[in-house]
Amino acid sequence: MPTTAQTFESHSPADGRVIATYPIMDADAVREAVDRGRIAASWWVSLGFDERKARLLRFKALVAKRSKELAELVHAENGKPMDDALLEIILSVEHINWAALNARSVLKRRGVRPGLLTINQAAHVRYQALGVVGVIGPWNYPVFTPIGSIAYALAAGNAIVFKPSEFTPAVGEWLIGAINEVIPEQPVAQLVTGLGATGAALCEAGVDKISFTGSTPTGKKVMAACAKTLTPVLLECGGKDAVLVDKDADLEKAADAATFGAFSNAGQTCVGVERVYVHQAVYDEFLALVAAKARNLTPGHGPDSSYGPMTMPSQIEVIREHVRDALERGGRAVVGGPESVGEGVVEPIVLTGVPEDSMAIMEETFGPTLVVNPVRDMDEAVDRANAADFGLAASVFSGSKATMERAAAQLHVGMVSMNSWVMYAGVSALPWGGVGQSGFGRIHGPDGLLEFARSKSTVRERFALPVPLVSFARHPRTTEIVRRLTSRRGRVVLQAGRTAVGKPPPLQPGVGLTHGRWTNAHP
Ligand code: NDP
Repeated sequence: MPTTAQTFESHSPADGRVIATYPIMDADAVREAVDRGRIAASWWVSLGFDERKARLLRFKALVAKRSKELAELVHAENGKPMDDALLEIILSVEHINWAALNARSVLKRRGVRPGLLTINQAAHVRYQALGVVGVIGPWNYPVFTPIGSIAYALAAGNAIVFKPSEFTPAVGEWLIGAINEVIPEQPVAQLVTGLGATGAALCEAGVDKISFTGSTPTGKKVMAACAKTLTPVLLECGGKDAVLVDKDADLEKAADAATFGAFSNAGQTCVGVERVYVHQAVYDEFLALVAAKARNLTPGHGPDSSYGPMTMPSQIEVIREHVRDALERGGRAVVGGPESVGEGVVEPIVLTGVPEDSMAIMEETFGPTLVVNPVRDMDEAVDRANAADFGLAASVFSGSKATMERAAAQLHVGMVSMNSWVMYAGVSALPWGGVGQSGFGRIHGPDGLLEFARSKSTVRERFALPVPLVSFARHPRTTEIVRRLTSRRGRVVLQAGRTAVGKPPPLQPGVGLTHGRWTNAHP
């Protein structure tokens, strides 16, 4: 990939032509960007919610207006079909919009009830921007994934420094250029380009948080690097998503969703479908439907291609290995086989009867392959889905709402689609993220805004208590009163901001709490 020690090129996965050349930025260059970002962050946060909203909505409008131009770039660098690139951009536009419109309501200062012992305090939580957020992104959804961090971090009042994948730097440059076009005053969004070492440098450049999207092994390196400085991390890592199909499911619909979820973007989707657990009663019918749909797909780089070539050449060997391992362990290829794994394009592969401890079940394949295995019932389907170390998302197809809701509650994942695939991605108010080896932390929705802010708790005394609680002047009786008030025997009722005590246990004469005022005849 790199052509010299100082620069690298991005290539078209279709024909290998050079798309663009970028500098490999070293640790000093990355740190300088973060330092510039810190100045920009103070200006940006001082603008307040409304001014930031206005600018982010201009960014949204610009991306929407020039979406075809951006889609061309995604198509060229990533290799996915134009329509898929456009869909990714449309979803991203929705997220920019949501973050801009909702930042104030989610992050505004809010009051909390102080409770009985601190009834004299006005208590508030305020949410403050972190400062500079480092965003590290992958190449498979080079717009949607970074925007999930960038739009929400900016809306919360942070500056960002973005390190795109070495496979899609031109898309990254386009996005940062667009932000700078609508926010020309300060570099609130900056691009740093390079290979993995540039991403590693960003982790150690003094940022206030790293928002990482990429593979689990790299996520672990990022976390280890950030541990040195206690820099917080948000990790959106790999997946091994399953589709669960019940015996009364709409099989046509389930097969359509599983096929699109498995093969679109050449299977290079973090929430891509890699496994299906289908009720044994409908297994044959379902497998036949999926196989027919998979055989109809036409991968390649033409205008009508179902999906494109593999973006990252090294993934081809992983796919080959997973298919070989599955077949050697007794699995059966229903569509395609080892011969489907070409040098650029990988033809659709559908496997069945694959042992649950094989690589194709336990590890992320990230290619156009799908394993369909039969199960006794939905309980077994949930158990098998949960057996993987990953826990990003899952889909459940059933005729019964109760069955789907039960499975959704039991699945050890961050997101579940019922009778559809991936639709949670389109609901901007829903958080996005995984569990286990799929990472932690959330982008999107209110949780996604809160990820890029730190809470600060404040209390302000409204009136002085006659008997101090946190003072060396506290009388031992005060502690006893408080102990009794908080014991289960004292029924304490808070009413309209006033405190009353229902039938308190007997205290010494003259000591008690009435209508928010301590009465203590013997201080
Ligand atoms: P990688 O982990 O290879 O790379 C991700 C990013 O990290 C790239 O920008 C990469 O730079 C950078 N990087 C590499 N090494 C380091 C390092 N030591 N320190 C800091 N940054 C580093 O993932 P891919 O780009 O191959 O993306 C595919 C993976 O991403 C899949 O596992 C997929 O499941 C996951 N993913 C997860 C999503 C989610 O939301 N959970 C969404 C989309 C993808 P460079 O490219 O230059 O090496």
